[in-house]
Amino acid sequence: MARFRCRACAEEGSFVYDGRHACPRCGSVDVQFALSVEELADDDPLIAAMTALAESDPTEPTD
Ligand SMILES: [Zn+2]
Repeated sequence: MARFRCRACAEEGSFVYDGRHACPRCGSVDVQFALSVEELADDDPLIAAMTALAESDPTEPTD
């Protein structure tokens, strides 16, 4: 299960992530997901996005 909080319909709760980045209630993309990585496929766009962020994180200490 993943959790979501939608800023469009103000709904929050848990849902089964199906690969779409949209509110499971109203379908808006203005939604925040809290997923565990285990729920995502290796080729999920979110994985690629998180990997890119991690590799380019300017707040990461270098020393
Ligand atoms: Zn919604």
